[in-house]
Amino acid sequence: MRTVIFIWGTKGRVRTAGSGTFNCPNCRAPRQYEHKKAQRWFTLYFIPVFPMETLGESVTCSACKRSFVPAVLEYGPAHHRAAQIGDMRAANVPPVPKGRPRDPANPATWGKVSRNEECPCGSGARYKHCHGRYS
Ligand SMILES: [Zn+2]
Ligand SMILES: [Zn+2]
Repeated sequence: MRTVIFIWGTKGRVRTAGSGTFNCPNCRAPRQYEHKKAQRWFTLYFIPVFPMETLGESVTCSACKRSFVPAVLEYGPAHHRAAQIGDMRAANVPPVPKGRPRDPANPATWGKVSRNEECPCGSGARYKHCHGRYS
């Protein structure tokens, strides 16, 4: 019987995950970028078999050659950013109750009530054990 010796190891590899146009924070202008991923690969007989982990990612501007974290791709132009801040402010405003207020004496004003919700009539029982039984 022959002894089979597996020669295995790991190898770092950099591959291009994508490219396109982004707003370079250094150039302050739309630029071409290359999104690169450094990964550690499991190798067998010096042949990379599968990626084991991502070691790092970078986005490099083709104009100024600066590298950035991939999150830089999510930054929009200045007016986009302003719109996002506007959205965040809007999200901080307490939600306005929708529709008519519920009148405990009038089930017609209750709208859709969840079966596990407390019954709007004020009995303290769950809707499914109170008014919800009849619907
Ligand atoms: Zn740049
Ligand atoms: Zn009820």
